[in-house]
Amino acid sequence: MQLSPSVPDTISIPALRAALSGRVITPDDPEYDTARAVFVGGVDRHPALIVRVANATDVAHVIGVARETGLELAVRCGGHSNGAFGVVDSAIVIDLRDLQALDIDVDGRTAWAGGGLTAGAYTTAVGAHGLATGFGDTGSVGLGGITTGGGIGYLVRKFGLTIDDLLAVELVTADGEVLDVDADHHPDLFWAIRGGGGNFGVVTRFKYRLHDVPGIVGGMLLLPATPDTIAGFIAAAEAAPEELSTIANVMPAPPMPFIPADQHGKLSIMALLCYAGDAEAGQRAIAPFRALATPIGDMVRPMTYPEIYPPDSDDYHPIAAVRTMFVDRVDRDLAETILERLGAATGDMAVAQLRVLGGAMARVPVEATAFAHRKSRIMANLAVLYHDPGDKAKHEAWAGTFADAIRQGDHGAYVNFLAVEGDERIRAAYPGPTWDRLADIKRRYDPTNLFRLNQNIPPAPAAS
Ligand SMILES: Cc1cc2nc3c(=O)[nH]c(=O)nc-3n(C[C@H](O)[C@H](O)[C@H](O)COP(=O)(O)OP(=O)(O)OC[C@H]3O[C@@H](n4cnc5c(N)ncnc54)[C@H](O)[C@@H]3O)c2cc1C
Repeated sequence: MQLSPSVPDTISIPALRAALSGRVITPDDPEYDTARAVFVGGVDRHPALIVRVANATDVAHVIGVARETGLELAVRCGGHSNGAFGVVDSAIVIDLRDLQALDIDVDGRTAWAGGGLTAGAYTTAVGAHGLATGFGDTGSVGLGGITTGGGIGYLVRKFGLTIDDLLAVELVTADGEVLDVDADHHPDLFWAIRGGGGNFGVVTRFKYRLHDVPGIVGGMLLLPATPDTIAGFIAAAEAAPEELSTIANVMPAPPMPFIPADQHGKLSIMALLCYAGDAEAGQRAIAPFRALATPIGDMVRPMTYPEIYPPDSDDYHPIAAVRTMFVDRVDRDLAETILERLGAATGDMAVAQLRVLGGAMARVPVEATAFAHRKSRIMANLAVLYHDPGDKAKHEAWAGTFADAIRQGDHGAYVNFLAVEGDERIRAAYPGPTWDRLADIKRRYDPTNLFRLNQNIPPAPAAS
């Protein structure tokens, strides 16, 4: 039984409320349960308080309270991290969701975005001007988490990672200082927050570069999944112009109205395609995918870029066993293994998601940011959804065995798709010199590891 949490005596709620412009939500408040909900299912954590901050000054104040009281400090933006890091028992949560300001400089092709916006809200607003910054495949993901971890999405081959379009941030440090950070000011910190996650401070505003994206050819293409179509899909995605970024979800065809009933539940490639450029050239680029087999469903069409994000449901909270990795190639043999493993999945809905990388992302030097996987060729994300938390071990075992079966030479991992998988996997996200440099910067900006409820990079020991 979960005991009802209480606010520690060391914190005066009236004084805290008086000191802040934002809102303090305690366990007694009617909105407490809504405020502590996150995307991943099976999470029922009770923080001591949740502070919906209104600005950087509020963030600095709450950091001060956490330091004085010794309470743990969680930071929450869109609430989508696999580790559910934005809600932790007995912690103070800095909830950034009220930081919604968006200042678009259309002529200058930049935007300052509040650190609580979602990818979808930002994309819709800048899309009204025919402009875009690339995030991921889901609109409800928060800018805070996806940006500080890297950001791999529908424009990755054309424009690179989200962090490749990050120009500056306003950030509150572990000692409550509000810093303007960019390539010229605190460049070490600017390097670290481009991939190093929430380890270095709380970003209250992001400044992004905007690109002209007046329209795309995009949407869902559903193909039967066979060793030939899977290997052919990856070959076509690698050969495609950089304007085209693809996500191939090998999974049972869901019972959607536009999918013929006799296909429901059969393994298919549910592909999401995005060609950012001229419509005719886009149709030409997509033709090789359509030619792989008679499509089961074809929703690919010219559209505006924001349309790539369909509305998300607030009620969807899946529990999943997940693994993330990079692979060098997906040939017929590997595709066969993928189909075999999915056929033996421990749950009804299991997926192997394959994303061909390269293009603009790979042209940025590896050492330029804390995201170290520029040369990785294909990202593979494996997942099985389940309902009963008591069955976790069985599903985790399936996901682990699947990952082992398809592992090749690339032992890296993308931090934003990691669950809570232990220190070794965090090290895999930050190999070699990247880890050493991050740990050193952590020592300088957060020596007590105040920001530790995350994919944590502990501070390097102080030099003797
Ligand atoms: C359905 C789904 C689809 C996804 N698709 C993609 C995808 O296509 N591409 C991709 O790259 N990733 C994708 N992700 C992964 C996603 O980028 C990470 O889960 C990310 O951490 C979520 O960010 P958030 O702000 O929503 O999460 P939160 O749980 O709110 O935040 C996660 C952590 O990030 C840090 N953080 C958040 N905001 C800030 C801030 N303003 N300043 C400092 N630190 C901060 C904190 O440590 C926080 O605990 C997806 C995740 C889900 C659930």
